[in-house]
Amino acid sequence: MNKNFDFKNATIGSLVVGPLQTNCYVIGCKITKEAAIIDAGGNGPGLLALAEELGFTIVKILQTHAHIDHVAALSEIKDATHAPIFMHPDDLPMYENATQMGKMFGYDIAPLPPLDHHLEDGQILEVGKLKAEVWLLPGHSPGSVAFYFRDLEVALSGDVLFAGSMGRVDLPFGSPADMNKSLSRLKNDMPPSTLILSGHGPETTMEMEIKRNPFLNQGE
Ligand SMILES: [Zn+2]
Ligand SMILES: [Zn+2]
Repeated sequence: MNKNFDFKNATIGSLVVGPLQTNCYVIGCKITKEAAIIDAGGNGPGLLALAEELGFTIVKILQTHAHIDHVAALSEIKDATHAPIFMHPDDLPMYENATQMGKMFGYDIAPLPPLDHHLEDGQILEVGKLKAEVWLLPGHSPGSVAFYFRDLEVALSGDVLFAGSMGRVDLPFGSPADMNKSLSRLKNDMPPSTLILSGHGPETTMEMEIKRNPFLNQGE
């Protein structure tokens, strides 16, 4: 969607990258001009240019999960910014095999740099004056997380929740049972007014998904 979302104290820029049309985001604080890249999924130069265009300096690289379409530009972004990489350790088996997996799917992925920080559920991350809560939402992958900026009423949901759909659960390490729990948690605990920015496809809101998303309303 290559679209910018503007808030009083923050801007979120997005860029669609790679053969799987992955949404990567730059979220920055207007006060300190510090920003995070959320999912270095491809087109490293494009992501860096987006940050520059918005006047931001990248201080963190936050990964929603380790699928290849979300990590393909990680080495490049790390080299250019020296920013620390944050990811949940439950996705390490995929992270460590990304180069090999990439070959199978037509991605040329340089060996990934080691993680700098392990995310955990409930952790609060700072991006300038912005605060993100980490929600562990396994199912699409064991270490899938959403970054929830409560003050902005925005959640970057990775491949857990999409507009009208959900992430695949049939890939290696996927779990339909875990996904059901993660979707219930979103439905019950994420305020309806929350803007959802997904790993693929257009933006939506929690309210809209509660109304129309069949995967949020199954088994009840
Ligand atoms: Zn994925
Ligand atoms: Zn994806």
